[in-house]
Amino acid sequence: MTDHSTFLIHHPYSPPAGFAAPQPGVFKASTVFFPNVAAMRQFEWKDKTAYTYGLHGTPTTYTLEERLCALEGGAQCLLVPSGLAAIATVSLALLKAGDEVLIPDNAYGPNKVLAEGELARWGISHRFYDAMQPADLTAKIGQNTRLVWLEAAGSVTLEFPDLVQQVAICKAAGVLCALDNTWGAGLAFAPFDLHPGASPALSVDVSIHALTKYPSGGGDVLMGSVVTRDAALHMQLKLCHMRLGLGVAANDAEAVLRGLPSLALRYKAHDDTTRALAQWSLTRPEFAQVLHPALPGSAGHRHWQHLCHQGSGGAAGLFSVIFKPCYSQLQVDQFCDALELFKIGYSWGGPISLVMPYELARMRPTWPSHLKAGTLVRFSIGLEAVTDLQKDLAQALKQLV
Ligand SMILES: *Cc1c(COP(=O)(O)O)cnc(C)c1O
Repeated sequence: MTDHSTFLIHHPYSPPAGFAAPQPGVFKASTVFFPNVAAMRQFEWKDKTAYTYGLHGTPTTYTLEERLCALEGGAQCLLVPSGLAAIATVSLALLKAGDEVLIPDNAYGPNKVLAEGELARWGISHRFYDAMQPADLTAKIGQNTRLVWLEAAGSVTLEFPDLVQQVAICKAAGVLCALDNTWGAGLAFAPFDLHPGASPALSVDVSIHALTKYPSGGGDVLMGSVVTRDAALHMQLKLCHMRLGLGVAANDAEAVLRGLPSLALRYKAHDDTTRALAQWSLTRPEFAQVLHPALPGSAGHRHWQHLCHQGSGGAAGLFSVIFKPCYSQLQVDQFCDALELFKIGYSWGGPISLVMPYELARMRPTWPSHLKAGTLVRFSIGLEAVTDLQKDLAQALKQLV
């Protein structure tokens, strides 16, 4: 008879197989057992035919990866602890000293900061290109350019680039392109089929996604994904991911798996409310400009129409306004403080509406010609009733005078 404590640790019971329920089970592990030494020597994690170590995959992470491939139209997926980690994994896996990476001038800020920090220190140079001028991208692709980042729409100023042409330019130059697809979320357009019906498909090489935003949907999870369609490219990313020791927690994977069934419905709800509030904002005398890709006057509107109307016509849950220059930064800050339902905070995709003033002059060395002068405020629209959000904006605007 083994000791009581040993018996509890090595308890022989295992529940019957065949348990079926709406959500997949949650498997947690660092250690994974092998049935024998021969199996330990043979088991392969790289092609997901077996399990070897928690960091290399569990039933929970494999399931989430497969669903994210289905969402974005890819064939392989890696999970990482944040959207920014997805960006960093791609840049670290695909670039080496002497290479150059091109980043859109309106890109998610931390992507630029990574290039200016670690990438620069490691001898990888970068240049920013005008996201709205394909000719500028063409001109900046040089001998050492190995990777081009793409983003649609730009995350603060919401210009919608000619993504189809940008990808075509990268393909023609033989340079890899990686899309930050957080805004599109796999719903607004298909990053691996930008020209439906084209053969071969016009695809980005890599699509990264901050699952933190719409897939999680709760404002309570940080996670990112790196999706590809090319097996060799995936393996290059996967080996770097493995060497860096990146992985995600099972409970977080579970939270994202729970969010996925309602993703399209939530995205549509965010989208509908956002469009209504952006339209209403056009009527307000306080704003010099309203930025939202579905508004005819917004930069790149026709590119958005062309790409996104191949699918649902989705436009996510973000819009920005530029206050007329007669309103000081202090007044705009007071407007943000006066909002009650809108909370002041970063990120988006959760149930609660958010507001954030941005100092565009510090983000863009030259003021973009399509933007009017003034202080920019970005709204991330949650799942509240549109009438309540509109009332909240109106009451906060009233305090400006
Ligand atoms: C939020 C965001 C990221 C980073 O996601 P985190 O999980 O917060 O690191 C990357 N790209 C875009 C466009 C984002 O909005």
